[in-house]
Amino acid sequence: MFYNKMTMKNYSKFSLFLFNLDIKIFEYINYVFLCVQNILFVIHYYSKTPIENKDKNQKFLDNLIISIIHMVFIIFVLSVWFIYKFKLQYKHQIMKIYKERFIFSKGGEKSNEVLIDNEEELINKVGSKLTLTQKIILIIYYTILINREVNILVFTFIFTGIYLYYPNCIFLSFPLLFIANLNNILFGIVYSLVLRIKQLLFVLIFMYLIVYLFTWFSFYYFPELFEFSGLYNVKLDDTTTEKLCSSMFQCYLTMLSYGVRSGGGIGDIIPMISYKVNPGYFIAGFFYVVLFHMFVVWIMINLFFGIIVDTFAALREQTYQFEEDKNNTCYICQITRDVALNNNINFDHHVNNIHCIWNYVNFIAYLHINNERNFKSLETFIWGKIPKNDTSWLPIGKKFCQPENENYNE
Ligand SMILES: [Zn+2]
Repeated sequence: MFYNKMTMKNYSKFSLFLFNLDIKIFEYINYVFLCVQNILFVIHYYSKTPIENKDKNQKFLDNLIISIIHMVFIIFVLSVWFIYKFKLQYKHQIMKIYKERFIFSKGGEKSNEVLIDNEEELINKVGSKLTLTQKIILIIYYTILINREVNILVFTFIFTGIYLYYPNCIFLSFPLLFIANLNNILFGIVYSLVLRIKQLLFVLIFMYLIVYLFTWFSFYYFPELFEFSGLYNVKLDDTTTEKLCSSMFQCYLTMLSYGVRSGGGIGDIIPMISYKVNPGYFIAGFFYVVLFHMFVVWIMINLFFGIIVDTFAALREQTYQFEEDKNNTCYICQITRDVALNNNINFDHHVNNIHCIWNYVNFIAYLHINNERNFKSLETFIWGKIPKNDTSWLPIGKKFCQPENENYNE
């Protein structure tokens, strides 16, 4: 309930226009800037391979001009956001994070001092209790870094600034990844990774420990594993025969690189041994290679994929449930499509006309705009409940909400 009478007054038409500005459009424009910059980079480096092109940090005039225009554009959008939306979003974050903690701060019981009807007052009270560090975290992390409305602009601003100082194309190709911010499906993928980051990390650590164990085995019993012919030497620009590693640490990294990456595990790079010549060694090597393949490639790597796929499925299920609820449940009285059907009620008619959500929104807006001294008794009754987020005045699951021709019995 931030849009109460106190906050809505004193705004000119232009201010209201800026207040209602959709920053999403500017995010798209910002992305177009980035795309143009990257296309120009590709054109500039079109005919040269990296080895031919000695001066990779060249400054290109067109890119510099676009960067400066881009910077001015971002500064404009961010200042509009800062003036008109920052305070609101900051307050929103305060309420989201600290409201419950504040209310239940005294041994799980609601303390009397915080039962304040006015949201504005409550925010000020909660806000005044925060320490400076909490405020800084709130502003930098919650209001800017993970705020999808502005983080793409802030990051692009920083990277463009670095590019202007030090012209390296990587700085302007990195923010292209923020396309995930503009699309909900892509954002879901990134979100599911972030959501399961702890599990993924533990699976990774466990896998690395298994490889560590296997490295000791190879170190003691299969040292030939680390002899490899046909190795490419960058300095000589030729293939030579040499040892892959000469210390335990080097061998561990070799196992991680070749063993985990290869489809068949470490067996893919092991030198071929003839069963006929050395049967004992072949059988020992057989178990070693097969166990490695089973534990690392089959189980651990697929566990890793499994967690990601599982999270996708869970998120999809959640989205499906939201859609299902949105399409088949009346927002006002919670009657479902099935119950409506059983009671001979036309559900679509019910949702669009009888319990049209916009009638309720308009009614709340009406209460906000008008003087409460002129309210009728019912309006005063409801007006008293709205600031407390009390929804008992809505006809949730009640029979009297049904008109005479709709016989509603469960
Ligand atoms: Zn209804």
